[in-house]
Amino acid sequence: MSKRDYYEVLGVARNAGEDELKKAYRRLAMKYHPDRNPDDATAEASFKEAKEAYEVLSDANKRRAYDAHGHAAFEHGMGGGGGGAHGADINDIFGDIFGNIFGGGGGSRGPRRGADIGYVMELDLEEAVAGVEKRIEIPTLVDCKPCKGSGSEDGKVETCATCQGRGQVRFQRGIFAMQQPCPHCGGNGKRIVSPCKSCRGAGRVEEEKVLSVKIPAGVDNGDRIRLSGEGEAGPAGAPPGDLYVDVRVREHDIFQRDGDDLHCEVPIRISQAALGDTVRVPTLGGEAEIRIPPETQTGKVFRLREKGVRSVRSRSTGDLYCRVVVETPVNLTSQQRELLEQFEATFVGEEARRHSPRSSTFMDGVKSFWERMTS
Ligand SMILES: [Zn+2]
Ligand SMILES: [Zn+2]
Repeated sequence: MSKRDYYEVLGVARNAGEDELKKAYRRLAMKYHPDRNPDDATAEASFKEAKEAYEVLSDANKRRAYDAHGHAAFEHGMGGGGGGAHGADINDIFGDIFGNIFGGGGGSRGPRRGADIGYVMELDLEEAVAGVEKRIEIPTLVDCKPCKGSGSEDGKVETCATCQGRGQVRFQRGIFAMQQPCPHCGGNGKRIVSPCKSCRGAGRVEEEKVLSVKIPAGVDNGDRIRLSGEGEAGPAGAPPGDLYVDVRVREHDIFQRDGDDLHCEVPIRISQAALGDTVRVPTLGGEAEIRIPPETQTGKVFRLREKGVRSVRSRSTGDLYCRVVVETPVNLTSQQRELLEQFEATFVGEEARRHSPRSSTFMDGVKSFWERMTS
């Protein structure tokens, strides 16, 4: 692919002055900046293209080389001629400006609130289903007690002289007028006359905070509980952040959870499966019974209505699905072995098929398979 002409990229005339180049570049950079066009490869390519064009044309040496030789001027490792510092500066400017404009640096007005805290809480299935109250300890920042979070020893504060209480300072950087939180008061607009000795004026101190968290019944893996105002204390008396508790439910020995339903496997003996029986199965609320009808095949699923999890959202209750699995007996006594041998001896000839629906279907399949193979 042939490279576009740098002047064309910026949309300026070949004799464009420095200011015109800057203006053109700024407009394109704002339009195509990746922060404004997330996951847009075309925009990203345009952004890079404009940046490259500007880096060359804004450097007198490079521009002269480009005017004389076009793109060929830079194709063999050329063009490093003295422009490096300027190029780096451009990156720098845009790093800053876009950090401020798009970087979500939300604290443009007033003091910033405290940071949010995330906490992962592991629960047993039983706890998640029934709900539980848990004591947690989190390292966090809390309001300093002696100064009640103000950071001031005597309670006196004065308006910050640097920003005149605005909390923001403006400054000029190249062609950009920029605004930043005031470095002297941290954006509060106020300065403490004599800082509190306990917190050195920060207004907050590190502490292991102990909290009791109520987990509602029915929560599931991935649920998130927000405790408003339980995050870090804000700087200099600003409001605190929030605490987010992320729920992880540990695997259970017996039950697998699927939303509000539970699944479990129930092993039964071959005689129970053949003759039918009533078997006891565990549920979260105690025991229940399922009636296994005679001639039950392995893998059959029995549903116990409303023996699952009561939903934390809809208040409806899921079901429990019990899948029976016929188990092969082991450690046979001589009597058991004898009985099974006798049992096995009854399966003779064509008659045997009547008692084994699956094997006979299987054997039919095998037979026609061989017939096809050999014909
Ligand atoms: Zn200030
Ligand atoms: Zn203090």
